[in-house]
Amino acid sequence: MNKIITADYYEGQGCTCYATSANECGCEGADWTPTEVYKLREDAKQLALERDEAIELLKYSSKYSTTKSQQDTYKFLRKIGKLEDTK
Ligand SMILES: [Zn+2]
Repeated sequence: MNKIITADYYEGQGCTCYATSANECGCEGADWTPTEVYKLREDAKQLALERDEAIELLKYSSKYSTTKSQQDTYKFLRKIGKLEDTK
């Protein structure tokens, strides 16, 4: 699990001039990145890891299956561009 940096983060972190936005702030090193941006970056990273893991599981399990679900799995992997060996 990734470290959740948003837990301690707040917009304007490092600001000591009592500004209410980046436009007013003149502090060097102050971080006005919206909290949501950090949250979305973390989510994207986590989702990519889970997606890669799911793809590996699909590849492995479909290799040893001869059912309709195998065809569906190949169709899905082809759709997302993760099927190297076409069948
Ligand atoms: Zn400031």
